[in-house]
Amino acid sequence: MDEASRRKLLKRLRKILGSENVLDDEYIVSIYSRNAAGMSSNALAVVFPSSVEQVSSIVRLAYNENISLYPQGSATELTGSSIPSEGGLVVSFQNMNRIKETSVVDGYVVAEPGVILRELDSHLSQHGYMFPVDPASIRAATVGGAVNTGAGGMRGAKYGTMREWVMGLQVVLPDEEGTVMRIGCRTAKCRQGYDLVRLIVGSEGTLALVTETTLRITPIPENTVTLLGFYEELEDLVNTVVGVKENRLSPYIMEFIDAETVDITIKAGGSRIKGEGHALIVSLDVPPEASSRYAGILRSIMESNNASQIHVAENTDQAEKLGLFDIRRGFHPATVKLAAEASRHSKGRILVYVEDIAVPPSRLAEAIRRIRRTSDEMNIPLSLAGHAGDGNIHPVTWFDTGDPESKERVERWVGEIMRIAVELGGTVSSEHGIGSSKKEGLRMELEAIGGLKALELMRRIKEIFDPKGILNPGKVV
Ligand SMILES: Cc1cc2nc3c(=O)[nH]c(=O)nc-3n(C[C@H](O)[C@H](O)[C@H](O)COP(=O)(O)OP(=O)(O)OC[C@H]3O[C@@H](n4cnc5c(N)ncnc54)[C@H](O)[C@@H]3O)c2cc1C
Repeated sequence: MDEASRRKLLKRLRKILGSENVLDDEYIVSIYSRNAAGMSSNALAVVFPSSVEQVSSIVRLAYNENISLYPQGSATELTGSSIPSEGGLVVSFQNMNRIKETSVVDGYVVAEPGVILRELDSHLSQHGYMFPVDPASIRAATVGGAVNTGAGGMRGAKYGTMREWVMGLQVVLPDEEGTVMRIGCRTAKCRQGYDLVRLIVGSEGTLALVTETTLRITPIPENTVTLLGFYEELEDLVNTVVGVKENRLSPYIMEFIDAETVDITIKAGGSRIKGEGHALIVSLDVPPEASSRYAGILRSIMESNNASQIHVAENTDQAEKLGLFDIRRGFHPATVKLAAEASRHSKGRILVYVEDIAVPPSRLAEAIRRIRRTSDEMNIPLSLAGHAGDGNIHPVTWFDTGDPESKERVERWVGEIMRIAVELGGTVSSEHGIGSSKKEGLRMELEAIGGLKALELMRRIKEIFDPKGILNPGKVV
């Protein structure tokens, strides 16, 4: 775009939003053009709407002028889905951050997309309720970002991902009119023809701009029982997961950390509990009067699968006091610390990369072993943890941006990790999304399950929603 057109565009945007809500300062734009994985590009400007009317006006202008729009929450995504890859405008939702309505009786909260998930949860806790989707990025990630990535978290073993918790949406369509559309219901049961709410959840900002969300809420469990055990053999850990399920228990949290990652985390000072081997954390929500009984059942499942050093907390506060979640929470910071140490010899910046595959939980041991072997063979440093309840594995590594060979090696490694997931009947992305970096993986997965035709359907759906291709182009399909 030439300078005169750029100035004209900015002038028109400032008329819609006010000068303070249209920023084109190079430094600020560069901050909003980067994601948490360090992927970056350069937008023309960043705009901060504060109402659905303003979002609609931005869309009309962009449609007429053929300007790409990139919706953004806090840019904590890890696949390039929020990056303004073809110039254009970043539409930041950080000013649309009101919680508009809470109904415990009807079981929902109405929130604007810029509300931070942690703030939503603290708001609901005043009512004894919670929003159960808790990505590790909960302190920064927004409702709009979580809806659009289809985020999940530690509590996913019981509560699933965003898909299960979005009841309704208000969106602005990227069409000539900037049409404002409401879909979904404020009732738990809802049949509205084709399920467009679910289509938009996880669509990574490629189909519509989300301007309001109606989210299902759930009571905070009265009490939880948590056990942490260590295992020499991966099979024993996985058999514990099987045992928990066969005993008809539905854990709130079921997380694993592999032995080498346990070691890294403890050495980095990331855990008050010291242990050796693969770690498994299981947390059940049970009434206080049943705590001892369920702690006993869980302990005996762990013991019968050769767990050593079993730590037990019979209530939620005790689990925190004893540090039963430390290893799981500390593994990422410990990896970042290792990467930072490596950066002393680096030629550029060191970027930490978090993978996000899933396999059927019964195949976890095989998957973890293959990931370790592949990483060793490729000389890739590796931390590894995940959600044992749903088979979601997060292999984590890093690379040196100043060393093309290191970057290219990690890219090849990502391809291999995705291949392992597909070969074991899993998926290349369970919660982080496809963005721009996993498009090949998506194709590989669909091909493997005989679903390539779905890619063509997805492209046609994209064209129906976004006839000019101005919304987050180049992502997902
Ligand atoms: C340390 C760390 C830990 C993480 N842990 C987890 C985890 O446990 N589970 C998990 O699922 N993810 C995790 N993530 C990934 C990320 O935090 C989540 O995907 C999060 O939901 C993204 O929220 P955000 O507000 O940052 O969205 P962004 O990164 O800004 O955007 C994500 C996507 O949503 C789109 N989008 C944002 N707002 C809107 C809107 N209003 N309308 C339309 N499209 C929109 C963007 O275009 C983009 O495609 C982690 C990331 C980091 C850095």
